[in-house]
Amino acid sequence: MAKHGARDSRRRDSRYGRGAPPGPTPQDQSFTCGHCKRFVGALPSGGHHRNHCPYCLYSRHVDAVKSGDRLSGCGGMMAPIGAFQRPNGEHVIVHQCERCGFERFNRIQADDDFELVLSLPIVPPRSAKPATGETPAE
Ligand SMILES: [Zn+2]
Ligand SMILES: [Zn+2]
Repeated sequence: MAKHGARDSRRRDSRYGRGAPPGPTPQDQSFTCGHCKRFVGALPSGGHHRNHCPYCLYSRHVDAVKSGDRLSGCGGMMAPIGAFQRPNGEHVIVHQCERCGFERFNRIQADDDFELVLSLPIVPPRSAKPATGETPAE
């Protein structure tokens, strides 16, 4: 009986002890940048869904309407064409798809290359949709 118990716990330890927690998998958050080819891991502090490369700021056209919905079949690279600052001080990057021209705004992430963000052309604040373009900051 003791033998069975020991074997059971060892197996759990080696295979499932440090398994991935339920919920979004780390793989879902990491990707290889299609522009600069760097590997981009999940956000160190968790939090928001990462949708662009922190090194070159390029994004990928995978979302159709909302950030993270992954409903677009385009898959083109989205270039950071500009940035603006919201009244609350939040910096927003304007991405434009190189393939279809779709434009989207993304809040910068904590580990984005901030100098690169500041070097982008400043564009006037605009919103894709008057009411619900993006969820407001929590
Ligand atoms: Zn990149
Ligand atoms: Zn596109």
